[in-house]
Amino acid sequence: MVANMYKFSEYLRKRFGVRVYKVSIDAGFSCPNRDGSKSKDGCIYCDNRGFSFNSRIASLPIEEQIAKGIEFGKRRFKAQKFIVYFQAYTNTYAPLEVLKKKYDAIREFEDVVGLSIGTRPDCINGKILDLIESYAPDYEVWIEYGLQSIHNKTLEFVNRGHVYKDFLKAVNLTRERKNIKICVHVIIGLPHETKGDILKTAEVLGRLRLDGIKIHPIHIIKGTKLEEIYKKGQYKPLELDAYVNLAVGFLERVWSETVIQRITADCPREFLVAPMWIVDKNKALGKIEEKFLQMNTFQGRLYQERG
Ligand code: SF4
Repeated sequence: MVANMYKFSEYLRKRFGVRVYKVSIDAGFSCPNRDGSKSKDGCIYCDNRGFSFNSRIASLPIEEQIAKGIEFGKRRFKAQKFIVYFQAYTNTYAPLEVLKKKYDAIREFEDVVGLSIGTRPDCINGKILDLIESYAPDYEVWIEYGLQSIHNKTLEFVNRGHVYKDFLKAVNLTRERKNIKICVHVIIGLPHETKGDILKTAEVLGRLRLDGIKIHPIHIIKGTKLEEIYKKGQYKPLELDAYVNLAVGFLERVWSETVIQRITADCPREFLVAPMWIVDKNKALGKIEEKFLQMNTFQGRLYQERG
């Protein structure tokens, strides 16, 4: 386990007093960056099949997915409580009544203590946030915004279909509600980003003092635009050691109270093109821990309140 950072497992144990497992589901949403509203191509690395094995059971009703996830978490991790994570695609991209119906599925499970909703920063508004906050009296409520980088040139290259300002707007709107925790997703190793660009993302996001952050190494999934770019020899993903150095540098710049929900990636081998080290999550975590110890450093060591 990675030392010297504020791990999600530690946060959950403090918060709930028991082991909590996050159940990822695919609630059948689409994404404006794939259905043609913004673009038909999606982000160049996007293929939600690679994001979670749960996507493979996406054809099941939401309740069944949750029940299976709970059973798995109990069996494999001896978890006692659960957070339901609406993970695949854009989970606020539907009319309010449809959203409510889907989110309400969690109410059928007494061991569920949390609701976490993954979305794009340009797919949120006050009414949706009010709906999400309405679960707060009964559940811990998180919203997870996919951002990936603060640099608009990168967002454009990867075809995100939004800019950094959209993210800031979403954060401010969310913060008007006191009971929604905010997590941001970033990717380390995006095409054309320098070490300086990546650490700048860390500094700027660090200063926002968000509740949580998920950091992923970029990985190339079969059938994506990024695979084409890679096969043409126009892009090389990071080697494990380079990723480890950047991940530690990133965490040194993040506020110490921000919970690190993720620092590696999961991708089933059959969907992965490169880099193959992604499949050995424990090795990556071990190396990050080693690096922290070697450098005698910790999350937030280089955090600065002002830029
Ligand atoms: S926003 Fe998410 S679901 Fe939509 S195209 Fe990008 S990665 Fe895929």
